[in-house]
Amino acid sequence: MTLSKKHAVVSGGSRGIGRAIALELARQGANVAILYAGSAEAANETCESAKALGVEALALRCDVSQYSAVEEAIQQVKLDFGKIDILVNNAGINRDALLLTMKPEDFDAVLDTNLKGAFYLIKQVYPIMMRARWGRIINISSVAGITGNAGQANYASAKAGLIGLTKTVAKELAGRGVTCNAIAPGFIATDMTDKLPEKIKEAALSTIPMKRMGRPEDIAALTAFLAGDGAGYLTGQVIQVDGGLAM
Ligand code: NAP
Repeated sequence: MTLSKKHAVVSGGSRGIGRAIALELARQGANVAILYAGSAEAANETCESAKALGVEALALRCDVSQYSAVEEAIQQVKLDFGKIDILVNNAGINRDALLLTMKPEDFDAVLDTNLKGAFYLIKQVYPIMMRARWGRIINISSVAGITGNAGQANYASAKAGLIGLTKTVAKELAGRGVTCNAIAPGFIATDMTDKLPEKIKEAALSTIPMKRMGRPEDIAALTAFLAGDGAGYLTGQVIQVDGGLAM
């Protein structure tokens, strides 16, 4: 129970990678607040599963692309938990298209959720962690943010932006006992990848040296490590969990 007495916020904790992260943090003893956009049922189910592991858990509807919603949600978590030690910026969407046909509103929507949402949440927890002189911020980026990806100008830009944000926050807060790192997953089996056309999935699989998709639990295990005391001297890093996809 390496995370007992810690309080975590996981954005997009209702499904997929975020759900696995919320449950792994709970398994290691952290109380967890799950932020979700639309799927109340999935969020409540994750919340109940976390409680069954013996921790406190909350599910809060919060569209992270709206600053006022983020302010309200963090206020609520502070009221319920009293403190926030761990923030996982995991909420994300994709709106794929080749740049030539990508609608400007789809570029904005992906930047608003995947990048600005993380900025808004960090902005809210920054003073809390700074005062506590302890904190862990983990941003879920993507291999696409490192290598680029045809058809994902919006997504790759947002995920690359998250890396710049991670390193900046790491530098600003390093002297305060707060670390900030990014995880760059490769191809992980969730609703996000399930909806891809079969041909694209096959092509992606053929480029992964380990010849399989990752599991949400692969990302959760690293997140829990980064959230713990054992990772206290590790900051500003981007760690790929991709089966060797982008070496
Ligand atoms: P997913 O299964 O589609 O789940 C996305 C999660 O984000 C859901 O919990 C969703 O909430 C939440 N969300 C979306 N928009 C939101 C908003 N505006 N405000 C709050 N929550 C919002 O996706 P996933 O595959 O688990 O991906 C999780 C993260 O990993 C994303 O940042 C994604 O870009 C990144 N990633 C995924 C892969 C992959 O292969 N799957 C690879 C690299 C990086 P609702 O349930 O309410 O919709």
